[in-house]
Amino acid sequence: MCGIVGYVGEKKASDILIKGLHQLEYRGYDSAGIALNENGSQDFLVFKSKGKVSVLEELVIDKNPMFSTGIGHTRWATHGEPSSVNAHPHVSNSDEIVLVHNGIIENYADIKKNLQAKGVKFQSDTDTEVVVQLVEYVMNKKGLDLLTAVQVALHQ
Ligand code: GLU
Repeated sequence: MCGIVGYVGEKKASDILIKGLHQLEYRGYDSAGIALNENGSQDFLVFKSKGKVSVLEELVIDKNPMFSTGIGHTRWATHGEPSSVNAHPHVSNSDEIVLVHNGIIENYADIKKNLQAKGVKFQSDTDTEVVVQLVEYVMNKKGLDLLTAVQVALHQ
């Protein structure tokens, strides 16, 4: 069962997210990741690794990112092997939307096939990535803001 942690504030988000992910380790997981962002900008820093949160922590400490907003995830794979590519967060093709998710997208294969037929590319084998690419597709196709695009996408 995965774990999700988020932070918006003035402190160094990576420290808080890593601490939160350590606290969620008891739930079980096979990989972990965080995405960081500063002041709502559309530039994200993403760190992901297979294995323990301590492995992820080493990656993040090396870069010492000072951003103050972020999300983190511990993954228990259901679709796609445990790997850093399949670890969450997943990022849309424009790099502007970042997503973590707990659970299963039952109809992901149909949605993925439809999006691929329209030229949308995928990086991972997960069901989760389908949602972030679908939200972006809906935003662009219908000219919607993020909130509305999420609502439309979730109907599928
Ligand atoms: N189904 C998703 C995956 O395989 C999420 C698994 C989870 O809840 O950690 O990436």
